[in-house]
Amino acid sequence: MTVQPIRLFGDPVLRTPADPVRDFDAELRRLVADLTETMRESNGAGLAAPQLGVGLRVFAFDVDDVLGHLINPVLEFPDEDEQEGPEGCLSIPGLYFDTRRRQNVVAKGFNEYGDPVQIVGTGLMARCVQHETDHLDGVLFVDRLDPAGRKEAMRAIRQADWYDREAPPVVKLSPHGPANPFGLGR
Ligand code: ZN
Repeated sequence: MTVQPIRLFGDPVLRTPADPVRDFDAELRRLVADLTETMRESNGAGLAAPQLGVGLRVFAFDVDDVLGHLINPVLEFPDEDEQEGPEGCLSIPGLYFDTRRRQNVVAKGFNEYGDPVQIVGTGLMARCVQHETDHLDGVLFVDRLDPAGRKEAMRAIRQADWYDREAPPVVKLSPHGPANPFGLGR
């Protein structure tokens, strides 16, 4: 197991949809171990493979003392309940913004041995599972903010000391709709 460097906002790998895992082999288990160790070292609640530069549908989580991972996740929402609360991301370090998420989620996928697993998550666990699954689709939590919130988040990101001004970020259309306050398109 090795702690790996985490890719930061602006790195194109964070905007690239990840491929499904097909081989549940030793290399995959090494990836799960690296994700888990890097997440714990960084005190994160979750970490997705693209954040380590790996384009596979895998994430690790550590929420409410439940440590685990999920591969090829498919999310289902059992109800319409929502939650709003602060959210952050190891790829957008030090910045937190209130983000609306579904309150309850059922995540189906596989463990590192290829066995089917299911996570029934509520509250923070549900938030984490949605955040990490978004990473696998090239979506970041700032994309989920309303236009005013996104504008504020982008301003804060551009001012962050870790932000690389030489590599302008790829900005995605909001998953909520066609609004694109940055006029950059994709
Ligand atoms: Zn994240």
